[in-house]
Amino acid sequence: MPAITNHLPTAELQALDAAHHMHPFTTNDELAAKGARIITRANGVYLQDSEGNEILDGMAGLWCVNIGYGRHELAEVAARQMKELPYYNTFFMTSHAPVIALAAEIAKLAPAHLNHVFFAGSGSEANDTNIRMVRHYWAIKGKPTKSIIISRKNAYHGSSVGSGSLGGMTPMHAQGGMPIPDIHHIDQPYWWAEGGDQTPADFGLARAQELEKAILAMGEDRVAAFIAEPIQGAGGVIVPPSTYWPEIQRICDKYEILLIADEVICGFGRTGNWFGSETVGIKPDIMTIAKGLSSGYQPIGGSIVSDEVAEAINSDEFNHGYTYSGHPVASAVALENLRILQEENILDHVRDVAMPALHEMWHGLADHPLVGEATIVGMMGSIALTPHKETRAKFAADAGTAGFMTRERCFANNLIMRHVYDRMVISPPLIISPEEIKIMGARARTALDEAYAQMKELDLLKAAS
Ligand SMILES: *Cc1c(COP(=O)(O)O)cnc(C)c1O
Repeated sequence: MPAITNHLPTAELQALDAAHHMHPFTTNDELAAKGARIITRANGVYLQDSEGNEILDGMAGLWCVNIGYGRHELAEVAARQMKELPYYNTFFMTSHAPVIALAAEIAKLAPAHLNHVFFAGSGSEANDTNIRMVRHYWAIKGKPTKSIIISRKNAYHGSSVGSGSLGGMTPMHAQGGMPIPDIHHIDQPYWWAEGGDQTPADFGLARAQELEKAILAMGEDRVAAFIAEPIQGAGGVIVPPSTYWPEIQRICDKYEILLIADEVICGFGRTGNWFGSETVGIKPDIMTIAKGLSSGYQPIGGSIVSDEVAEAINSDEFNHGYTYSGHPVASAVALENLRILQEENILDHVRDVAMPALHEMWHGLADHPLVGEATIVGMMGSIALTPHKETRAKFAADAGTAGFMTRERCFANNLIMRHVYDRMVISPPLIISPEEIKIMGARARTALDEAYAQMKELDLLKAAS
């Protein structure tokens, strides 16, 4: 009888994993040589591995376990729903209570003009929906030539062919024939690495105005939408200068370009508000959601759609959907997650307790010799590693060398902190306590010290010329 084989020795699990499991975003041969770390259980902000180590999860899984691990209420809701109605579709003029309640709850939490939800199984799927929805919207409006979607270099919108095309990750585009036609990428508002001598304010404005230039170059009658994360996540937690978003909003309004806010990370409290769009002050036509919607306890995503866009889309048959759109178990679990977020006032905890402590800890790391900037919005932060702070220099070594070494030192010190090239990023569970933030800070500093010593020894502290 097949069983989950948690009881096997670590080495056997690693061997089976290497033999049969192809990991995402991984050089599997490299991993096989090293052996995957086997995570066995988790509670609160801590993971446990098969060797008994307690690891502080500074990434909330993959930016998703916002209410923390070990909330049995979600398991109970899932079990109840599985017994009552484990699955039914919503294609053929049927619906069910969990999806109805979840859609209504999301509409209540979202900005006032966003009241309609199209469900998907993930953020990637939701962004695929968005590509088709905005193009179909303009076709219904009698403007079928408006099909280009403008996005940004180094954006992350998912890994399917459509959403990966929207994203601006060149290593992804290099494999498998992406991007699809009619996707255009402009530069990102990444002042620290790309701002040169400009002030952040001027640079933010200039990067926003690239959108206007692109619209004018391609023609207003060709552009359907602009998509962006309020704060770029997987690209390295890149916080745009404050001048950036107001200018983007102005341009979208002026040229009648739909604005899609990809809230997959920013949504549901990550930035200190329900949605990142509120934090950066924009009024999107569509918001992509996933991750924090269920705190990762079940795979679910969706698009929250404005009244105006929904009115058009709802007037015609939209030939699109997923078997698991509005899956009853995933919907019930997401609803329970939203209940916990609200009834336990987790956003108040974020704003009044966790954010002040986390920001103090994070900014405290800025004096470390390896750290060029330590930036943070709400509960998502990043550090730029540099061999020379004053000039915001890059390393002479291949991009990602310093980041990888630092991440390995974090792992060795039982802290999960991810690296994006030479930026370190954090996104802890929203329920993290000040005591746990202290532990996180101490481990991060130790890891930085060790990485610094290692880089010194290997003569890697040289700036690129
Ligand atoms: C993770 C992510 C996605 C993709 O979501 P999946 O559930 O992995 O498909 C899309 N957009 C953003 C901003 C993300 O961080």
